[in-house]
Amino acid sequence: MATQKHSDKRDAIIRLLQSTKEHPDADWVYFNMRKEFPNISLGTVYRNLKQLSDNGTILRLETGSGTEHFDAFTHDHSHFVCTACNRIIDVDAELESIDRRAEEQVGGRIDFHRMFFYGRCKSCNNV
Ligand SMILES: [Zn+2]
Ligand SMILES: [Zn+2]
Repeated sequence: MATQKHSDKRDAIIRLLQSTKEHPDADWVYFNMRKEFPNISLGTVYRNLKQLSDNGTILRLETGSGTEHFDAFTHDHSHFVCTACNRIIDVDAELESIDRRAEEQVGGRIDFHRMFFYGRCKSCNNV
């Protein structure tokens, strides 16, 4: 019998990530999880984040900063990374044509792409 072990903590992590569009890192998740689970360890948070991103429930974003960020919104979208304040902002541009162009070059099939835009966000650009 297949048993999917139910985990309150994992559910809470998903709820927490669904509550924000800020693409937080593991430290933020740990800090906020401790409000509900005061005894939770950072290792448990890391393990759950890894499981959830490995099975596709959440996205793990590696922006090149060395810190992984997490996103509960897994619809096809790209990300903008502000190189001044490190904010990550969703970009919902229509990018299918890029897949088609890549397919022409590869000669196979593109299922998805990972794309980051880098620059300055609105508030950093106005300083
Ligand atoms: Zn910024
Ligand atoms: Zn996102």
